[in-house]
Amino acid sequence: MPLSEKAIVCACEDVSVHDIDDAIEHGYPDIESLKRYTGLGTGPCQGKSCEVGAMRICAQRNAVPPPAQVPFRARPPLAPTSMAAYAGLPAGVTGARHPTAGLRPTWGRGAHPLQPPAPLPGSADIVIVGGGIMGLALAWNLAGRGAGRVLALERGYLCEGASGRNGGGVRAQWTTPTLIELAKESIAFMARFAQELGINVWLRRGGYLFLAHDDETLRRIEYGAELQKRHGLATRVITPGEAGEIVPQLDTSKFLAASWNPEDGVVFPWPFLWGYADGARRRGAQVETFTRVTGIEVSGGRVRGVQTDRGRVTADRVVIAAGAWSPTVARLAGVQLPNVPYRHEIVSSEPLKPFLGPLVSMLGTGLYFSQSMRGEIVGGMGDPDEEPGLNQTSSLRFLARYGRALSELVPQLGAVKLLRQWAGCYDVTPDHSPVLGETPGVAGLLQMSGFVGHGFMMAPAVARRMAEWMGGAKDEIFERYSVRRFAEGRLIKETFIIG
Ligand SMILES: Cc1cc2nc3c(=O)[nH]c(=O)nc-3n(C[C@H](O)[C@H](O)[C@H](O)COP(=O)(O)OP(=O)(O)OC[C@H]3O[C@@H](n4cnc5c(N)ncnc54)[C@H](O)[C@@H]3O)c2cc1C
Repeated sequence: MPLSEKAIVCACEDVSVHDIDDAIEHGYPDIESLKRYTGLGTGPCQGKSCEVGAMRICAQRNAVPPPAQVPFRARPPLAPTSMAAYAGLPAGVTGARHPTAGLRPTWGRGAHPLQPPAPLPGSADIVIVGGGIMGLALAWNLAGRGAGRVLALERGYLCEGASGRNGGGVRAQWTTPTLIELAKESIAFMARFAQELGINVWLRRGGYLFLAHDDETLRRIEYGAELQKRHGLATRVITPGEAGEIVPQLDTSKFLAASWNPEDGVVFPWPFLWGYADGARRRGAQVETFTRVTGIEVSGGRVRGVQTDRGRVTADRVVIAAGAWSPTVARLAGVQLPNVPYRHEIVSSEPLKPFLGPLVSMLGTGLYFSQSMRGEIVGGMGDPDEEPGLNQTSSLRFLARYGRALSELVPQLGAVKLLRQWAGCYDVTPDHSPVLGETPGVAGLLQMSGFVGHGFMMAPAVARRMAEWMGGAKDEIFERYSVRRFAEGRLIKETFIIG
């Protein structure tokens, strides 16, 4: 390789000119994709030293048109700031909730400048709306089964939605047999993702440690552990002392017991999307980014196709896999979904030496944190006062609440600096369980949404089963999770939702 290609553009993440050319060659030249594909701008300099250089290379290669040569979205904090500084903010910061407007697209109104100029095909057998993990995993599975012409449409870059914004926690510790089995299959698939799809998703099985701070939660984890054991998991309820042996930095006076499964873990979410998208294309499916579905055509009680900002595509089957935007997309077909979007915030610290094996979660408060393969502490915390809405902005209130909760549980982390904060939307249904399968009254319109804060760890198994079911196989989950259950009052009981 010539010396000039070895030149480092991003010193924090060790990204060279060659790495940027590689990203461009793989179809990720826009700055948001480039950041995710190479990691540039995600380290301690927060992009201050590398962003301009990377953009100049993309411009020199004519990789993106001038209107798309914009900086990536700046993430708070403006400078690395210690967790203790946030934890010590006055109570007013965490008092009343101040709703803010949702993030606007960086490219303004109209079609994205990176929208491919080629027309879409006039017809497809199956159109999938949404290029998150659900839509892409489904496209890959359908294409592998020879399901005909599959077209997946994503309005932004890959990783635009919740699938590019999540914490990467994957666990089989659930409290219904269906979710335990779905998660078990998904995690097993994640372990062989690289062999199947040729990209490393950095599965690290450091376990999941759920902390119970009161008697009622203790009873719930005992019930869960018994059920999980019957499904072949190694889960056991352990004492605070035993939890302290697994994570010595925990203040063990803060909880009564813990549920521990050493085989759960964390993944790096982004490569899943690139892997599934490339794999689906290799199998003959078409995956189109920067292409927005603007209408769904329905007549005579069945779906006929979609309208997009690149033209019309007829199709007998349309799958709504648009995550938190699924109700908006369903309304295009005159269908009301009960899903409601809620912002969920998350933050990443400076990289630390590897010290934390499991993902730790305090049940009740919704605090969770884990250490990524790059050494960062990545964590979040639900906010009971969060208002519903498609809001992806970041707040100081979250940093103050998270900083306090985490530094109380792990006092040593108070000194650690926070680097990057962002938010995504949970896609929440009334019973916190997904919406899958047919839509009453609109034949051919299929639902695949409502995965709250756990869609990532369910996607590989759900997508496999959905593709088989669409091919004619019988499968009870498409009855159990049918949208009809809300009208029929058949809500599902699941108790291990976190965040
Ligand atoms: C902060 C956070 C942390 C999380 N942590 C975890 C975790 O640790 N483990 C876990 O398993 N899950 C986690 N989740 C949940 C998980 O990320 C989601 O359940 C999952 O990614 C949902 O995937 P999806 O494909 O349904 O939706 P998305 O990934 O949101 O994809 C939907 C896509 O549809 C596109 N779209 C919308 N409207 C249109 C349109 N009109 N035309 C074309 N495209 C459209 C959007 O741009 C989007 O890319 C977390 C979520 C958040 C927000």
